[in-house]
Amino acid sequence: MHHQGRRQRVAGVLGSLNVLEPLGSLRALMQSELPILAYHRVLDMGPEADFPFDPELVSATPADFREQMNYVAAHFDVVTFRDVLRYIDGESTLPSRPIVVTFDDGYLDNYTHAFPVLRELNVPATIFVSTGYVGAEDTFWYDHLAYAIYRAPAGTFVLGTTRFELSDVASRRRATADAIRFLRGVPDAVRRAHLVRLGERLDYAIRDEDRDLSRPMGWPQIIELHEAGIEIASHTVSHPALSQCDDEVLAFELWESRRELEGRLGVPVEVIAYPFGGPGEYDHRVMRAAARSGYRLAASYINGRNPFASLAAHELRRLHVERYTDLATLASMLQLPQLFVGAQR
Ligand SMILES: [Zn+2]
Repeated sequence: MHHQGRRQRVAGVLGSLNVLEPLGSLRALMQSELPILAYHRVLDMGPEADFPFDPELVSATPADFREQMNYVAAHFDVVTFRDVLRYIDGESTLPSRPIVVTFDDGYLDNYTHAFPVLRELNVPATIFVSTGYVGAEDTFWYDHLAYAIYRAPAGTFVLGTTRFELSDVASRRRATADAIRFLRGVPDAVRRAHLVRLGERLDYAIRDEDRDLSRPMGWPQIIELHEAGIEIASHTVSHPALSQCDDEVLAFELWESRRELEGRLGVPVEVIAYPFGGPGEYDHRVMRAAARSGYRLAASYINGRNPFASLAAHELRRLHVERYTDLATLASMLQLPQLFVGAQR
């Protein structure tokens, strides 16, 4: 976007804060709440219409991410969930303006594009990793589905009881969003069966030249991130909607991802982000199972902040950073959060 315009808008936001701040409670508000930023991918995807995977998962370009982290580092004290747990346990204090920076899924671009910025600015972050995809040749199921729909021949595409007409890129993006929403809302075994059947009907191979555009990290990268102070936490094994899993699968997704991460990293893993994380994808059964599986904190994908006085430890809210979130919007989200609570993707 246009840099000059963006700076002016930021100046406008910050200018109005300078007026607000003497009025009172803003600083106190900051100290009593824990904002958590939610990113997925950091990537320069080029022209959106040419991007064959889900563009909605691209949260920022590397340049925008650098600008955002500069802003965050200048105005907040970035901490990890381990710091938050130590604070909850009374073992340490938190800095006056704590914030957590999170990434979901474990895309390789977190390592190649986000990590250099985080390291340079000395900003920690938390990456929620779906362990079943670590080091896999195949990408996450929803992104593979997006790819298959993007590449499918024009015409009718049927999923469950819904017919999608595929023509231009916009129709394919809509079909992708609708298809993923549909698959999030059916029992997990049904979702898996649909994907197998789709694989038989659509060309489900990812071309070699596209493979690097959507790739999970491997263990060497994850271990390097961990050793550099990036917190690695669970995003289950196979990224299902947990509310759609039966008790046995639910327990497996929660326990196995934790066991694998703890075995590889040699530290306790006590934090999870629910895949998709909307109100339809986790419920009280999921929250109880997460707590029973050793997770002391769990992040949803519901927009909002977390007052320490009434911390909902197993459904923490987050502030979404999307590819169209410019710096002025991010600044407003962080400084004037009440405007954004309730807005939900
Ligand atoms: Zn995810």
